Amino acid sequence: MASANRHGRRESVAIIGGGVAGLCAGCYAQMNGYKATIFEMHSLPGGVCTAWQRNGYTIDSCVHWLLGSGPASGFHKLWKEVGALRGLTIVDLDEFMRIELKGSPALVFYRDVDRFERHLLELGPEDGKTIRELANAIRRFTRFDMPVDKAPELSSVWDKLVTGACMMPLGPAFIKWRKVTVADFAKRLKSSVLRDAFGALAGEAAGFPMLGLIMMLAWQEAKIAGYPLGGSLPFVRNIEKRFHDLGGQIRYSARVEKILVEARPDGRGDRAIGVRLADGSEHRADVVISAADGRSTIFDLLGGRFVDEEVRKPYEGGMETFPPLLYVSLGIADPLDNVPQASSGISFPLNPSVEIDGKARDRLSMNVYNFDRALAPAGKTVVIVMITAGYDRWKTLSADPARYRAEKGLVGERVLDALEQRLPGIRSKVEMIDVATPTTWERYTGNWRGSYEGWLMTGAFFGSGMKKTLPGLGNFRMVGEWVSPGGGLPPAVSTGRDAIQILCREDGKRFVTSEP
Ligand SMILES: Cc1cc2nc3c(=O)[nH]c(=O)nc-3n(C[C@H](O)[C@H](O)[C@H](O)COP(=O)(O)OP(=O)(O)OC[C@H]3O[C@@H](n4cnc5c(N)ncnc54)[C@H](O)[C@@H]3O)c2cc1C
Repeated sequence: MASANRHGRRESVAIIGGGVAGLCAGCYAQMNGYKATIFEMHSLPGGVCTAWQRNGYTIDSCVHWLLGSGPASGFHKLWKEVGALRGLTIVDLDEFMRIELKGSPALVFYRDVDRFERHLLELGPEDGKTIRELANAIRRFTRFDMPVDKAPELSSVWDKLVTGACMMPLGPAFIKWRKVTVADFAKRLKSSVLRDAFGALAGEAAGFPMLGLIMMLAWQEAKIAGYPLGGSLPFVRNIEKRFHDLGGQIRYSARVEKILVEARPDGRGDRAIGVRLADGSEHRADVVISAADGRSTIFDLLGGRFVDEEVRKPYEGGMETFPPLLYVSLGIADPLDNVPQASSGISFPLNPSVEIDGKARDRLSMNVYNFDRALAPAGKTVVIVMITAGYDRWKTLSADPARYRAEKGLVGERVLDALEQRLPGIRSKVEMIDVATPTTWERYTGNWRGSYEGWLMTGAFFGSGMKKTLPGLGNFRMVGEWVSPGGGLPPAVSTGRDAIQILCREDGKRFVTSEP
C-alpha cells in the first residue's frame, strides 16, 4: 500500500487515462521522483490522438497541426522533454486550409501571411482595410509566445506583470478581435466572394472566435504548428516510450471504476487514496490524477460527491462540448497528386446537395493525405471526411447492431456520392471505407456524448481556464481537454506538466525536467 513518506511527502501517483495528457503527466511525475502508474482502459496509448489500420491504410484520428513543432514556440521544449518529436519529420505546408466556392476562385489560407494578404486583396479588393487589419493582427501574433514554463496556479504577481508587459503590444489587436466570431467577420465583409468563403468556414462552428483563427494562422506563419509525418501514433508512441524509459508503468485494458477516497486525518474534507479497476482490484497511491473524461471522473468515478456550482455548471448546459463526429475514411488507389496539399483540409461545395445522416449537405470538408505517403501503400492515398453528427441518433442506432451497420454503410455511400462531385471517378478507386460514429468515440475513449475534444472554444470562453481540483477532495487533480476549453494537444502536455509542478511545490521539492 502506498503512503506518503516519513517527511509527509507523497511518493506515488495513479493516473487515469493514457491519452496524451495522462502520458505527459506520467513523464513529469517520473522526472520528479514520483512513482507513476497509468491505468488506461484501451489496449493502446493516445486516447483520441491515435490511428488504426484498415486494408494496409493507416487512418489517423488526430494531428493536423502540432503547436510547438518548431523551436520558436515554448511548447517545443515541452514536447522535447516528453520525447514526442524524436525521429519525426515535421512539414510546414504552404496551404493551411482551402475553401472552394461555386463559380468563384477558392479562398486559400496560405501559411505565408504576405501571400495570404495579397490573395485576399485579389479576391476582395473592396475589403482592403479589413484585410490589412486581419493580416496585421496575424503578424502581431507571430511575435507572441504563450508562457508555458510555469503553471498558472504558481504564477507570482511579478510573473503576471511580466506576461502582461509581453502582451502589451498585442493589446489593441486583442481588444479589437476578442469578441468577434468567424460568422461576425463574414457578415462585415463587402466582397461577396470573401463573405461566402468566411461564411462557409463559420459553417456549423459559427461561434468560433476570430482570435483563435488569427492565432492559428500566426503559428503557421511562424512555422511552429507543422504536421509530423507519420501522423498521431508515432508521436504518441514516442511519449509512451519516454514514460517507460523514465521507469513509469502503464496498465492497459485497465478501466478505472472508482476513485478511492478517505477522510483526511486533520478533518479537513477527504483525500484520494487510489483507484479501483473494473476487475475489482484496488491500487493505492498518494495522489490520483484524472486525465479521463471530465463528466465520468466527477459524477461516476467520484459519485458526484465533490461538486459545487462552478464544477457542476458546465455539465448542466453552462458550456458546449465539441459536437461528435462521423469520421469517414477512404483508401483510394490513386496518388491524388493533382489535389492541392492543405494540412487542415479542403472544404468544397456540393451541387446538388447530398443527404448525409438525415441532413442535406451543400458543403463537405475533406483531408487528402497526399502529403503523408506513410499512411497508404505506394501510389495510394487516404482521404478523410469529418461531419458533425447528432449523438442521440447514433446512440439509439447502436442498440440495434444490424441497423447501426446499415446506417454506417449508407453514410459511406453518401460521402462517396459527394466526393464524386469534387474528385470524379473516385468511386472506382475505393479500396477501403471505414466509418466511425459518435458512439465509436464514446466507446474507445469514454468521452462524454462522443465529444472528441472536450469543451468547445467559443468567444465567451476564449483564454479562460477551468478549475483542476474539486472542492473537499485533496490529493487529486484533473488534466487534459476537460479542464482546458478548446482542447488540443498543447494543453494536454501543459496541464500534465503543471499538475506535477504544483505537486512538487506542495511537497517542498524543486520541479525538474530533462530531455531524453
Ligand atoms: C479528429 C481530431 C482531430 C484533431 N486535431 C488536432 C490537431 O490537429 N491539433 C491538436 O492540437 N489537437 C487536435 N485534436 C485534439 C486532441 O487530439 C485532443 O484534444 C487531445 O489528444 C486530448 O488528450 P487527452 O489526454 O486530454 O484526452 P483523451 O485523448 O480523450 O484521453 C483520455 C484517455 O482516458 C482513457 N479513459 C477514459 N476513461 C477511463 C477510465 N475510466 N479508466 C481508464 N482509462 C480511461 C481513454 O481511453 C483515453 O485514452 C484532434 C482531435 C480529433 C479527434
